[in-house]
Amino acid sequence: MTKIPLLDLRAQYESVRSEMDAAIASTMEQMAFVMGPAVRELEAAFAAFLECPKVVACANGTDAIHIVLHALGIGAGDEVITVPNTFIATAEAITMAHATPVFVDVHASSALIDVARIEAAITPRTKAIIPVHLWGHVADMDAIMAIATKHRLAVIEDTAQAHGARLRGRRAGSFGDAGTFSFYPGKNLGAYGDGGAMSFRDPELAARCAKLRDHGRTDKYLHEVPGFNSRLDTLQAAVLLVKLKRLDAWNAGRRRVAGWYQERLASIPGLTIPSSTNEVEPVWHQFVICHSHRDAVKARLTEEGIAWGIHYPVPLHVQPAYRSLGYKEGSFPVAEQLSATCLSLPMYPELTESDVDRIGSTVRRAL
Ligand SMILES: *Cc1c(COP(=O)(O)O)cnc(C)c1O
Repeated sequence: MTKIPLLDLRAQYESVRSEMDAAIASTMEQMAFVMGPAVRELEAAFAAFLECPKVVACANGTDAIHIVLHALGIGAGDEVITVPNTFIATAEAITMAHATPVFVDVHASSALIDVARIEAAITPRTKAIIPVHLWGHVADMDAIMAIATKHRLAVIEDTAQAHGARLRGRRAGSFGDAGTFSFYPGKNLGAYGDGGAMSFRDPELAARCAKLRDHGRTDKYLHEVPGFNSRLDTLQAAVLLVKLKRLDAWNAGRRRVAGWYQERLASIPGLTIPSSTNEVEPVWHQFVICHSHRDAVKARLTEEGIAWGIHYPVPLHVQPAYRSLGYKEGSFPVAEQLSATCLSLPMYPELTESDVDRIGSTVRRAL
């Protein structure tokens, strides 16, 4: 019985090995390990990919959100709206900026921010909204931008799970004041280590963030503002340049796998597959099913050598780290229900139709 992992980074590496090894070797020849030429090249190439004027690379996706918040002057005493069903980094970036996360529940059908609940969470202290494009789907950016304009709030799209996803043809991360990306190895576009980026429509905000990620410097030893050390390594930029060329094809591969799953998992009583509207071209960072008998499915998959994940088992409002925010169990029933029932199945472009057959029939038998 061959095992099926949640993600197969080795298979991906094998498919690009010679070009990747050459790119890494050439970076070694240049010996420009920090802010070398590949960083600028990646920023330009990723901006072109996103069809967004400016991209600034940084050290990771958490810093990307933090740097944008800092550049927008958001800090102590300010509130930032986001969702409780995300990786903790979204909230951490807010608390790193000394601002307060304010959670808003999500839609059961999409697991994305419920735009009808945003206005009730806005107070005079609210400064920004951070929608999360969870699992490779895209939040309702039209409604979010309309609310933000009306209340003069900034919008930072947490696009760490949705590199390349589109809403009505436009890439996720190009709607708000900024999009933030993680290049953690397991993301749709992943480095061989940590990495991140910020995308902007406003070149002036981009320039401020570029300065902040590199010690606030305007020249080698001239520092205009106190900044951070949050640069993307040249080696990681070189790795990402090799992968970026293939990202659209890899995302199309994920959509093909998602289609196979949707066929095989159709009409199982009680099983739902959260996803966004028809106007979205998702990139399936995770393929997630929800069922009240999740434990039975987990057990069957494990017996069959099929890996699974839960994204995420404990919503942020009940994490020990955020106890001081004063939320309780029951504060966000939809997010809590998703945490209790969601299950991520293997998802990567190299999965075959027979792998999906095996996974699908295992889920069906378990239920
Ligand atoms: C991965 C992730 C981040 C953080 O990215 P890092 O590069 O690990 O710091 C932020 N938000 C979401 C939704 C993520 O999935």
